[in-house]
Amino acid sequence: MSSDSILGYVPGFLTAHRIITKNGCWLWTMYCMKHGYGQRWYKGKVYLVHRLVAWFMWGVPLDRTDISVRHTCDNPPCFNPDHLIPGTQGENVRDTRSKGRARGRYSFDRSYGRP
Ligand SMILES: [Zn+2]
Repeated sequence: MSSDSILGYVPGFLTAHRIITKNGCWLWTMYCMKHGYGQRWYKGKVYLVHRLVAWFMWGVPLDRTDISVRHTCDNPPCFNPDHLIPGTQGENVRDTRSKGRARGRYSFDRSYGRP
């Protein structure tokens, strides 16, 4: 996916606060938690930035803690959708052995869990 089409999904209130590293990571420049995950207010609640991106990109429900969103770059403050993989906890375990697999096969009902 080209960065232009990614930017069609990820809203400006997120992309306005990034530093792009030479690895292509988008580092969150605003508040980060102790372990490095960026946080952002959205519609009255605080969410992790990479989860907000997963919501906008793939419709991963923000309130489904059983669906994790992981980093292929192992860089917690990164929120580049190209570096994120949504999946269930079970898939997480399996995925530790198949890092870097193809993404984009998840399709969530975007009306479910809409904040
Ligand atoms: Zn990254």
